[in-house]
Amino acid sequence: MEIVHVTPKSLHDYLPFMDDAVAAELKSLAAELSDARIAMINATSFGGGVAEKLHSLVPLLKDLGLNLDWWVIRGSTDFYQVTKTFHNRLQGQEGELTQTEIDIFRDYNLDNALYMKEWDYDIIVVHDPQPVALINYLKQGWRTRWIWRCHIDTSTPNPAYWDFIYQYVKQYDATIFTMPEFVNEAAQLNRLTFITPSIDPLSTKNILLEPDQARSIVCRFGVDGNRPLITQVSRFDPWKDPLGVIEVYKMVKKEYPSVQLALVGSMASDDPEGWDYLYHTLRRSGEDYDIKVVTNFNGVTNIEVNAFQTISDVILQKSLREGFGLTVAEALWKGTPVIGGNVGGIRRQIEDGVNGYLVETVEECAEKTLTLLRNPAVAKDFAAAGREKVRREFLTTTNALHYLRLFRDLLNGTGEDYGAEKVKTGHLAK
Ligand code: UDP
Repeated sequence: MEIVHVTPKSLHDYLPFMDDAVAAELKSLAAELSDARIAMINATSFGGGVAEKLHSLVPLLKDLGLNLDWWVIRGSTDFYQVTKTFHNRLQGQEGELTQTEIDIFRDYNLDNALYMKEWDYDIIVVHDPQPVALINYLKQGWRTRWIWRCHIDTSTPNPAYWDFIYQYVKQYDATIFTMPEFVNEAAQLNRLTFITPSIDPLSTKNILLEPDQARSIVCRFGVDGNRPLITQVSRFDPWKDPLGVIEVYKMVKKEYPSVQLALVGSMASDDPEGWDYLYHTLRRSGEDYDIKVVTNFNGVTNIEVNAFQTISDVILQKSLREGFGLTVAEALWKGTPVIGGNVGGIRRQIEDGVNGYLVETVEECAEKTLTLLRNPAVAKDFAAAGREKVRREFLTTTNALHYLRLFRDLLNGTGEDYGAEKVKTGHLAK
């Protein structure tokens, strides 16, 4: 196990985005918890969404005065291959769970647990499946309260893999999932809690950019800054439906010829499926030079994502299936109207007709895009409502508040609900 050193953050910098009541509750909970020793454990300190979230959350909790350490487990290439398989299978991929996978998974969890023998934390938060089995070797005789935080979409898991990790998950004193839909119907879990992911308003991806600054950044990719722009920021993946987005654009273009489309996506060099789908998307774009397909390989980093989300007239997230869809919160935060597929966590963020539109089809998506392009007043109302929703529900500070409430309740044996919807029976509506 290795401890992770984080760049300090200050609550003070978040105050402009917070209600006074939230700031006061954060401070009072942190004061109540000041004697508690807390550890967070995950698989990696860099790369991937969980590490990114912890780099926001951990320094904020520390600045509030919490006695908190962030640890990462040690593994080998074998172990990470197995846990990658676990990740995919828990999100529904088919395949047999093998004895070799079980052995490797258990061996590395046991190895890391041995390192923790002398630990004496009041609360340990374990993130995602990789370290989920640590509890099995340590819970006996410990006073520590254990929390498992699942960041992945386990709504339709491969049953063999879910059953395997369930033997560990059910030992935890509390479990956190993103949304009720992600919890297996039959699961009997302690203190089942729902906390959505959040965005950090101080990160390069989400800080406020002036329109001119954002415009000059997107113009570097060939966008004409004087014409309307619709954008989707997403991996090149069938579930994100970039081909559907191109169809939407083509329909809009017939009625609104000045429109341009940007498809902004990040590529991993070791993800052949992503590259295949990118090529597919490029072929579908054909020779229409008003479609810009841009990636990290031609210079898209966080600030460019921010600029596209800031300056676009409409952001699409036309997913056919979606865990949460951070890109929606990111765009709403910038006051850009969003049209999203009526699926998964997008429904949690967009209130149809209030801060955006939820759509089922390409035709509907094109119609709503035209509505927004033609009615700047509607777009402006959506923008204000969207930013306010994100401010209240999906910022790092709200996330911190949910964790602190859970810590307090676990230590005091109080409360059962933590602000997010809670489902008491195992059965959860889709
Ligand atoms: N993203 C990025 N660069 C890109 C495309 C996406 O940084 O070119 C980021 C995006 O801003 C968001 C994350 O990747 O923060 C994607 O998260 P989301 O929940 O939307 O989808 P996922 O990829 O996890 O399915």
